[in-house]
Amino acid sequence: MPIEPYPLSLRNLINTSLQRGVATQTFNINCFNSFPGCVRLFARSRRSLTASRQSSTLCYVLLVGFATAFKSFDVNALLKQSLAADSTAVRHSLSKPSLSLTDFAHLISRSAADFLSPLSLRSQQLTQQRFGKVIRLFAPLYLSNECINNCKYCGFSRDNPILRVTLSVDEVLKEARELLAQGFRNILLVSGEHPKFVSTNYMADCVRALHDEVPSISLEVGPMEMNEYRPIVEAGAEGLVVYQETYDRTVYSDMHTAGPKRDFDWRLDTPERAYDAGFRRLGIGALYGLSDWRFEALCVAAHADYLLRNCWKAQITISLPRLRPCAGEFQPLTHMTDRELVQLVCAFRIMFPDVGLVLSTREPARLRDGLIPLGITLMSAGSHTEPGGYTGAGKQKLHHTERGRIVELGASEWAAAGPDPHATGQFDIADERSPHEVANLIRRLGYEPVWKDWDAALTT
Ligand code: SF4
Repeated sequence: MPIEPYPLSLRNLINTSLQRGVATQTFNINCFNSFPGCVRLFARSRRSLTASRQSSTLCYVLLVGFATAFKSFDVNALLKQSLAADSTAVRHSLSKPSLSLTDFAHLISRSAADFLSPLSLRSQQLTQQRFGKVIRLFAPLYLSNECINNCKYCGFSRDNPILRVTLSVDEVLKEARELLAQGFRNILLVSGEHPKFVSTNYMADCVRALHDEVPSISLEVGPMEMNEYRPIVEAGAEGLVVYQETYDRTVYSDMHTAGPKRDFDWRLDTPERAYDAGFRRLGIGALYGLSDWRFEALCVAAHADYLLRNCWKAQITISLPRLRPCAGEFQPLTHMTDRELVQLVCAFRIMFPDVGLVLSTREPARLRDGLIPLGITLMSAGSHTEPGGYTGAGKQKLHHTERGRIVELGASEWAAAGPDPHATGQFDIADERSPHEVANLIRRLGYEPVWKDWDAALTT
């Protein structure tokens, strides 16, 4: 295939080829470059390329996104290694300067549960070495609890007859200003997935409205196309969080009974689309309580490992949410003890010394306090999981939503909502301390609470 004359960067070459509508093609490239950011452009377009070597030209490649790589990821073999790990294997993995996924499997094994002290010590040392004695604080700001998906474990599921609302841009700004007054400079905009109420334009408008006042804005919203993310990044968003929820395809299919979220692979490739759109922080995680926690942890580790190698300009974070009570009263299918959560935090830190580890207010205060010195680097505080939760914004617009249609509340429903009505939250929080109580506790532990670690001026 004739291609642009040399010199041409691989990225330009790929972009040019994609614009020309190349689907499957062998490239002959006069220069060789394995620059992963370029290669990943293929994954975005769901195309693959073949590789060949012809005469003096070295040629390349192809590549696949994590969803494709995940299909050949043998998690069961690693689970077996975890089950079979004895104390010798744990000690050996713990002594290594850098770990493989097999070592990680050893560190989360039942045998490693007896090594919680050395695991904690190593995790603590690595965290202080890489991050210092600091904890970044952030707050979730819920924009909307409308959703077109049915996820059995979530209060926002479309079939739940909850009180719903989508905040206007002005109301979002009001909520953000309340968080700014509390000290936050790092805000996570959260929403259910509903294109009618939460469109790309709406998201971009919200980010634009906050951008001058909030230095660090991340999103946790329904997955989008790369081109839909772009205007949101241009408006000033820098981070995207998307939990796979469960990496177990069977459980995933059972939990997600309706809506676009049923597409496991589409969700799994979301961080890469976000990276291609320009997000500089990517957050992943599993929701513990749906499948075996060791299975999930191994898959999260494989995913993080992939992103670190392929989206290397982004900061990667891993969250460790455990299921909490919510509307619909779903009961967790599996259990993860507090000790196991501690073990997992340490194992993630030792495996990935530079990855941020996130702990939300889903966990009770005492456990959160205990985890601060062990490897956590980001915490939410004083969280509300309902839109308008910080100021009461939007409460006059509460309604039900049936098949995408707004249904006004009747007089008896307003009466039942009480004198201070509010939208239904996504889940109950366990740590109800104010942000300042949490910040003071962090200081008492000898750590510095960090409200701001980024400014838009640093972007250019
Ligand atoms: S988990 Fe997300 S997608 Fe599923 S119902 Fe809740 S808000 Fe909607």
